[in-house]
Formats: sequence, structure tokens, C-alpha cells
Amino acid sequence: MTNQNSTTIKFYKEEQIPVELHKVRVVQKLFLRPIDERAKAMEAAGFNTFLLDTSNVFLDMLTDSGTNAMSDNQIASMHQADDAYAGSQSFYRMEKAVRDVFGKHYVMPVHQGRAAENIISQVFIKKGDVIPMNYHFTTTKEHMMINGGTVLEIYTDKALNIKSSEPFKGNIDIDKLKAVFAEYGAERVAFVRMEASTNLIGGQPFSMQNMRDVKKVCDENGTMMVLDASLIGENAYMIKKREPEFANAQIKDILNEMCGYADMVYFSSRKVSSTRGGGICTNSKDLYLKMRDLLVLFEGFTTYGGMSTREIEALAVGMYETCDDTVISQSPSFIEYAVNSLDAVGIPVITPAGALGCHIDAMGFIPQVPQQQYPAGALAAALFIVSGIRGMERGTISSIRDENGNDILADVELLRLAFPRRVFTLSQTKFVIDRVKWLYDNRELIGGLEWVEEPPLLRFFMGRLKPVGNWTEKLIAKFKADFGDSL
Ligand SMILES: *Cc1c(COP(=O)(O)O)cnc(C)c1O
Repeated sequence: MTNQNSTTIKFYKEEQIPVELHKVRVVQKLFLRPIDERAKAMEAAGFNTFLLDTSNVFLDMLTDSGTNAMSDNQIASMHQADDAYAGSQSFYRMEKAVRDVFGKHYVMPVHQGRAAENIISQVFIKKGDVIPMNYHFTTTKEHMMINGGTVLEIYTDKALNIKSSEPFKGNIDIDKLKAVFAEYGAERVAFVRMEASTNLIGGQPFSMQNMRDVKKVCDENGTMMVLDASLIGENAYMIKKREPEFANAQIKDILNEMCGYADMVYFSSRKVSSTRGGGICTNSKDLYLKMRDLLVLFEGFTTYGGMSTREIEALAVGMYETCDDTVISQSPSFIEYAVNSLDAVGIPVITPAGALGCHIDAMGFIPQVPQQQYPAGALAAALFIVSGIRGMERGTISSIRDENGNDILADVELLRLAFPRRVFTLSQTKFVIDRVKWLYDNRELIGGLEWVEEPPLLRFFMGRLKPVGNWTEKLIAKFKADFGDSL
């Protein structure tokens, strides 16, 4: 069969848009509440979109984690789940799928991506170690710090530019990597971590050439390379689109080559295979044995690792579907459409479009809000109030405080609007674009946020805030003046 994806379909006279290459057969009703109810819901949630109840959410763009649409074949596979504490046939199907797609022999199931990070960090990081990487992910960094490690971000100089045409902003800077080895010595480098489609800096991919270069430095120093493959499908898709050598390659072969450079691959299958759970895999028996006992202690027996057998079945099918262009291209092509539509009218979004979501630059959007008043969090709250769209703050609220109790200001303040795979339609995407445009035209009405309750660990999940001043009232009044009775 020929490869196809929605972005390769050309329109004759209509606007060039991505086309859904699937049909929708199971649907879930959504509610768009009136603005006063949305405002009340936001207040009840402490101006933290994590604390909203989905009955008040219209388009849930919080995350792609565990929210991608499942396929008919995934759901069908769940009926053959083999419930057994040990030796389940479901596990062997997962093991085969991971071997086929990632090319790694030893496969350990875990209950989700951060569980893999827990095990890897406990086993391979000792106090005083450093872990160089393209960029951290929230849970990754916490696990590494708890185990005495220090995260070193060695992204390229272009990585944090909001507006850019650089195709691979997720690359590791090779000179900086060499400098890390020169400064700390190989014995203090626990491993080098590469995150596919760097989550926190706009879902930006790295290139295959960069992986090869990183691998070479790792080999010269006898250091492991660990690949966070949670968003590897989309990274592979962008390698195919943006790296000329791979223009005609199959996603499957790209995935295989990427994983081939890594000594260890871990993943959240909440993302990579549109189900729940996750895993760690490697070809090294030695590495496997080092982790196996913790797997049993923290997650469960080696053939379920904290996952249900139904999830394991769906993971196995989802793994193969990650090699399918029609599955993997859907979210990036919708993101590209949204990003380009917003960019075209001068709204500051991260370009080029990446994986996972459309990332709005809050400091460019509302420059009047100082970073100490959390512009990305304020923008997330404002957008929800005017649209029922739930995005996620990826800025200083998602950061931490230093030892003196001061905020460590994030490199970038982003409002991320996630596009889970095959969940939203193009008309919903157009609604998102429209409401963001309205908010941009009324951006001077948006103010900042301050803490009401601030948890010490991963505060962005459970923390509660409130607006500085009464800006939300002005925003609501303007919305009503412009939209009347409309939702
Ligand atoms: C989501 C994510 C994780 C953590 O996975 P969970 O399943 O949410 O625990 C780790 N790394 C990256 C890059 C992620 O996107």
C-alpha cells in the first residue's frame, strides 16, 4: 500500500487544509457553557486549568497525555486481554510490538512515563551526577533532582527563538555537549538524554544527524544515550518532512534508526501509542537486570508493570499504528494549520509548528504582565473564560523556586494548546483560532495572577491562584459587548 497522509492531499479550488483520514464512529457530547458559568468554573479552579472539571470544558487542549483517540483495532484488541499476574499473553504481544517498532529486546512495562523516569533515575543517577539533555520535562527533572542529579540543558542558540524557520530546534548543541564532558569528566555524566519533540519548548524535533553526532560523543566517552520516546512518532514524521535524506523513508525505518542510537528507550504510551502506561526497553541484558528489581518493587510483576492487560493490548496495537503516516501526521498537520493561521495575523506563536500543540508566546501576547505575575497562566485562564478552551501553562508556574524562595523564571512563557491525535475536527480548530484572535485584539484587558495556595512540589498541578486586580470582570464585559448572547 502507498503511504498517504492528510497533508499530501491537494485541493482544487478550496483553501488548502488538512483532511481527516479516518471516520468518526463513537462520539462524546461536549458542552459550551455561557461565559458567566465559565468564569465561575475558572474561579472555583483557582485559575489553574488543571483543576477544572471537564463538564465545564468545551475543547480540552490541556494535554495529549492519555487523550489521543483510540482506533477500532485498539479497542477490539482489548477484548483479547489475558488477565494473569505473570506470563500474560497480552504482555508478550506488547513485547513483540516494542521489539518490532523500537528494535529493543528487553521490554519493561510501567504504569506511565514518569514511572520509567523514577526507575532510570534511581538506578543510574548518583549524587553529584549531571545529565545533559536537549531540554528537560517537568517530571524528568524532579526525578533526577530527587536522586541527586543536576539537569544540564544544552540546546542550540536557536532553540528558544519564538519566531524561527529552524527545522530542528530540539537539537543538542554538540560543542556544549563536548564541553560538559570536558568540565565534569565522563564519570560524572550519568547519561545523555535526548527527548523527542521537546515538550516544554514547543514540541520541536531533533534531526537524525544530531542524534548521530550525539551518539558519537557518547561513544567517545563511554556514556549511555537515553531516548525519551514519548513523542517519537511526531519527531520521526518531522524528520521525514524536514531532513532531505529521509524524504522517501518509511516512518518505521526512521523510528528504528532513532532507537538504534539509544542504549535505552523509555516512553509514555499515554502519548506514543494512544493508550495508558509506558515502558523502558534496551538491548542490554546488563541494563535490564539493573532495573528489573525496581520494576517489580514499584510497578508490578515484569509482565504487567502496573498496567491493566487491556491497556497492554491497546499499547501493542498503538505501537504499530505509530508507524502509520495517517495516524502520526494528523496532529502535526492540524497544529501547523493553527500555527500558520495565527502567525499570519501577527499573533506570537512558536514557529515552525512542532508536535503536540500550538504554543502561544505569552510574553509577546501580553507584554504588560510581568513574568512574576505568570503571563502564561494568566493567558490560559483568560482563554478559558472567553472560549471554554482549556490549555496548559508552560512557563514560570511550571518552574520552581530557588533556595532563597525566589521564582526561577522560565526561559519561555507558553500557553500550550494540545492537539491530541484524531480528537478535534477542523471546525473546532477554526473556533480555537477565532477565539485566540479575539483575545489578541483585546489583549490589553488581561492582567496577571498571584498565588493563593502554592504547593512546594510540582506546584503547577495543584496550586491555586487569583487575578491581580479585577481584570477578568473587564474581559467578561467586553466579551458580552462583542458577542451578545452567543456562547
Ligand atoms: C508526558 C511525558 C513524560 C511523562 O509521561 P507520563 O505518562 O505523563 O508520566 C515524560 N517525558 C515526556 C517528553 C513527556 O511528554
